[in-house]
Amino acid sequence: MIKQNIPFYLQEKLKDFTIESLSDLMQYDYLKVFAWLRDIYPSSSYKVLYDLYCIVSNLPLNSLDIAREKHLRQLYKKILPCYAPLKTTSIKRYLDLAYEQAELAGKQNEIPVGVVIVKDEKVIGCGYNFSKTTNLPGMHAEICAITNASRYLNSAYLSGCDLYVTIEPCLMCSGAIINSRIKRVIFGALESKTGAVVSQYQVFDNKAVNHHTQVYGPIDSVKYSKALRNFLQSKR
Ligand SMILES: [Zn+2]
Repeated sequence: MIKQNIPFYLQEKLKDFTIESLSDLMQYDYLKVFAWLRDIYPSSSYKVLYDLYCIVSNLPLNSLDIAREKHLRQLYKKILPCYAPLKTTSIKRYLDLAYEQAELAGKQNEIPVGVVIVKDEKVIGCGYNFSKTTNLPGMHAEICAITNASRYLNSAYLSGCDLYVTIEPCLMCSGAIINSRIKRVIFGALESKTGAVVSQYQVFDNKAVNHHTQVYGPIDSVKYSKALRNFLQSKR
């Protein structure tokens, strides 16, 4: 009977996800763990996937045949996009910054929705709804922030960037997010009428059009919709 150990080269890397033992590893889907490793260590080869599979299946390393290896690669591609977990502290910090943007919108009698875009722990773009002031219906917070971040990076593609938005994005903004290849969308509160992430449509779930963007949310619907609720109540 084989008693599998985690090879030394993997031990250090798995600590990033607080996986320190075989029993820790067994709690997760090995395909997801491989996706997390590839997110943080992009040069990780499929050999790592095969090793993970052998470890959790209690098989000797390097014992898979070609057909099994191909099958594992296909399974892995089906779960994409799947990135390393975000830290809870980061989610709160950046959503709170997005909320400050929402409050700025409210002060200008705009619908209070705010966005920040983050790359490598740095805010590279922010924005809030600006439709009424400009008479442009497309000037949603996400579009303004994407425009700012694209100018900052001098690129139409925001690969590796995370977008934090207080309210679930609409259909238009979800399209813009996919087109700009944003890595992750983290939204604070559900928007039951116009939300296109979970509420009315599930745009990001369509693997045929979305190869890049993973979504997290709602994080706290009561907290992050407060400015919007107060604004709508004041209009009644
Ligand atoms: Zn929108």
